[in-house]
Amino acid sequence: MNEEKRRVVIIGGGITGLSAAYYLQKEMLEKKLDIEITLIEASNRLGGKIQTVKKDGFTIERGPDSFLERKVSAGQLAKDVGLESKLTNNATGTAHILLKGKLYPMPEGAVMGIPTKLTPFVTTGLFSPMGKMRAAADLIMPSSGNGEDQSLGSFFRRRLGDEVVENLIEPLLSGIYAGDIDKLSLQATFPQFQQVEQKYRSLILGMKQTTPKRPANQPKNKKGMFQTLTGGLQSLVDAVEDSLNDVKVQKAVKVDEIVKKDKYHYHVSLSNGKTLKADHVVITTPHFATACMLPHADYLAPLTEMDATSVATVAMAFDSSAIKHDIDGTGFVVSRNSDYTITACTWTHKKWPHTTPDGKILLRCYVGRAGEEAIVEQSDEEIKQVVLDDLNKIMDIHAEPDFTIVSRWKQAMPQYAVGHKKMLREINGRLAADMPGVYLAGSSFEGVGLPDCIDQGKAAVATILKYYQN
Ligand code: FAD
Repeated sequence: MNEEKRRVVIIGGGITGLSAAYYLQKEMLEKKLDIEITLIEASNRLGGKIQTVKKDGFTIERGPDSFLERKVSAGQLAKDVGLESKLTNNATGTAHILLKGKLYPMPEGAVMGIPTKLTPFVTTGLFSPMGKMRAAADLIMPSSGNGEDQSLGSFFRRRLGDEVVENLIEPLLSGIYAGDIDKLSLQATFPQFQQVEQKYRSLILGMKQTTPKRPANQPKNKKGMFQTLTGGLQSLVDAVEDSLNDVKVQKAVKVDEIVKKDKYHYHVSLSNGKTLKADHVVITTPHFATACMLPHADYLAPLTEMDATSVATVAMAFDSSAIKHDIDGTGFVVSRNSDYTITACTWTHKKWPHTTPDGKILLRCYVGRAGEEAIVEQSDEEIKQVVLDDLNKIMDIHAEPDFTIVSRWKQAMPQYAVGHKKMLREINGRLAADMPGVYLAGSSFEGVGLPDCIDQGKAAVATILKYYQN
């Protein structure tokens, strides 16, 4: 065991940095390691993109609202900080696609838009007979053979045709990244689809084989596959922060630069003029901020070219009497072939009933996506009006909202372009050689979902701990 005291500086207090701090502290205490941990956050609060607002009995998420339960690390973190009893799954209901002004229920059995059941796909009005026939070509088409990266668009267009992609798959997949599926990397976003194609040749048949079947005794739609916390996701941030007793947390201080002194010794210069010494540095900031901290590292240049799109979430609270045309379901995504500005809308009061007082309605819409970001620059009032006009076309809303909360997220959705994984391998290889002990983690790199970010924080901790092994 190396007995020398080590200093670890974690940069960024979003969920990645918080997870790194939390799990490093846990290991340090359990293994009695001598580590000084410092977490530096530029803003005056922790949580980064996680921000919950409580207003008039509503619980409103400005940023992320939930996480996938099957990616276990987010639920595990909640349990680790004592919030297990506050975990709740979404109420299930039909999700819809808005196409050319009409809402269509998602065909039953569609997994990320890929059909796994015949009848709902054949009978849906989402596609023309020609579009359906083209998608069926997937059943006989050979696999693309090579395991090269490609765009999500080229992969799905080849397998299922343009119509199924544009009317169903694009709005679902691009919703997660607010991106352009013809640019997003298949391998960095949904590598499982390529693996299914390689193994089963047909995507439809492969997804049918690999999608878990509901046990016969389990009622249909028992619980949803997403989880959140009844106190809002900010409660997770607060609980992690409260438990960081052995971490020096500095808020409202920005890291300006990381300078190498010698192998494993770094100076981290802060915006308050101070300098921290560090043996390990975990950088969890967005990629453009990360590149600025290491100006000498020319191999980080690809990060400065990496796109990030801007979106805004718009939460609107109403009295239930305000909406005349209530639709059964949990929300909808909007196809690009529609004359709408909103890109998605969640009927939050139905999907997450704990968020909304009785007799009220809470809608949360998104505006902005790759190629349609100008709306995010408009004033709150303009955005509110655009969203209300769009909603009115579908839902017949007869009153002003009780209140509206517009949250802008500028350059907040990192875009994993084709070749992203290769770029990361190259950057990480060069960084490890140039600055051993400095690690990159967070949503710009190995996944944007909250569990992906937590996993990256944990992975950085595991790498640091290797230095303590005999
Ligand atoms: P961030 O949260 O961006 O944290 C980085 C931190 O670094 C920030 O606090 C920032 O202030 C700080 N920082 C920046 N520069 C410096 C510096 N120089 N010095 C010190 N600190 C610095 N994911 C889901 O799983 N489910 C969802 O429902 C979901 N919805 C989303 C909705 C929206 C609108 C957005 C924007 C994202 C959503 N995501 C969702 C994605 C997820 O929220 C993010 O990927 C995740 O929160 C990113 O966490 P992070 O710690 O990597 O980065």
